[in-house]
Amino acid sequence: MKINLTILGSGTSTGVPVITCSCSVCTSKSPRNKRLRASAWLEVDGKSILIDTSTDLRQQALRHKIQRVDAVLITHPHADHIMGLDELRAWNFAQKGRIPIYGNAWSERELRQKFEYIFDPKPVEGGGIPLLDLHRFDPQDSHLEVCGLRFVPIALEHGSQECVAFRLGDLAYVTDCNRIPEESLKRLEGLDTLVLDCLRIKPHGTHFHLEKSLETVAHLKPRRTWLTHLGHELDYLEWKGKLPKGVAFAYDGLKISVG
Ligand SMILES: [Zn+2]
Ligand SMILES: [Zn+2]
Ligand SMILES: [Zn+2]
Repeated sequence: MKINLTILGSGTSTGVPVITCSCSVCTSKSPRNKRLRASAWLEVDGKSILIDTSTDLRQQALRHKIQRVDAVLITHPHADHIMGLDELRAWNFAQKGRIPIYGNAWSERELRQKFEYIFDPKPVEGGGIPLLDLHRFDPQDSHLEVCGLRFVPIALEHGSQECVAFRLGDLAYVTDCNRIPEESLKRLEGLDTLVLDCLRIKPHGTHFHLEKSLETVAHLKPRRTWLTHLGHELDYLEWKGKLPKGVAFAYDGLKISVG
């Protein structure tokens, strides 16, 4: 199975540059320091699957010419990961069909609340809304079948809430976490490629900071690790070549191939 993953956005919730900020990263001329909100696009076996619908989804889809969306996996319902949900309408039109979307209990609850007009539409509003089939799954389950693909869902601690990582074959996408429970670490063994949360240098209550991300990498020993959900403290150019072997900052537009 050949898996292609595109990093649509490598940035934290504000994106980088941050509105009003004039720090050296926010004013950097390097495209590697321009970060849209964290999300990814999987292409595998002719299927096209989004991981999260970020606030920047429209821009990301146009940039990468995403022609189809067969399914959407939601990691968790924080605004930066779901606020592009309405953009799915474009693919409803193009594909003339509904789109399945998958989330844990927290995601299902919040999506129904925040997007009541989509999931509990009033008859009069019927016309211009995304047509989505929302499926709840339990990340403790051994697997999650989506488009005939066998994903392994992985529960992460994100503050007091549960975020979900997704593993497909030897690739895992692990964003927004401050701790990975023991059982979940087992599901991340033997990876070729790990995409991993790394917010900043200083510790943070709901995210991995650089030291914690690197500790996790040292424990799991994937062949290759890309750090993502990066804030404006992390200068791509400053850290280039200074991270341990096999570890690098992700960047918008990064294309990863596994298998
Ligand atoms: Zn986030
Ligand atoms: Zn800044
Ligand atoms: Zn979050």
